[in-house]
Amino acid sequence: MDRHRHTRSLRELGDSRRADSLLFMPLIFNLVCSGCSFSDEVRSAAYAVVDMEDGREEICPHPVERLTARRITGVEWPELVRAKRVGYRYALTCQACSKTDYYRSARGFRGPAQGLIGGIAHVPSSKEAREFVCSSCGRPALVPSTRVGRGWRKQEVACPNCAGHLELAVIGIS
Ligand SMILES: [Zn+2]
Ligand SMILES: [Zn+2]
Repeated sequence: MDRHRHTRSLRELGDSRRADSLLFMPLIFNLVCSGCSFSDEVRSAAYAVVDMEDGREEICPHPVERLTARRITGVEWPELVRAKRVGYRYALTCQACSKTDYYRSARGFRGPAQGLIGGIAHVPSSKEAREFVCSSCGRPALVPSTRVGRGWRKQEVACPNCAGHLELAVIGIS
């Protein structure tokens, strides 16, 4: 028995799976200030939601979205998707008041069509962000939270407490 080869092939399999996970799992991050101790809470860039029969929206946490949706609705995931009851909320940050919140697109982005992983790993574009107004101040000044920072392809957001600016601090990948 070639034990060495067996071990190596398992490790290679593990590595490729880990690499795939890193590409497709949603980011967990903080927004921190460059000039003071301000820090917005740990959050994920996106999460799945399901519409209940009574019109309420419930969160389906990662990685048990399908199980949660089935448990609380009694309906299987593919059927919920077909009925357009599965949605995704994405973190957007306001350049006017610095508030970060989660917004659900009226057209659902392309999430549901791409499946669960495509939905939660989707990074909203600046164009998509402009379809919303801030839930806190009502101004149309939202940018994708994962692009907050200063520099190339970044969107500058002022700190609510000082003259500094907010930066993305990646905590992990869920
Ligand atoms: Zn600050
Ligand atoms: Zn605002």
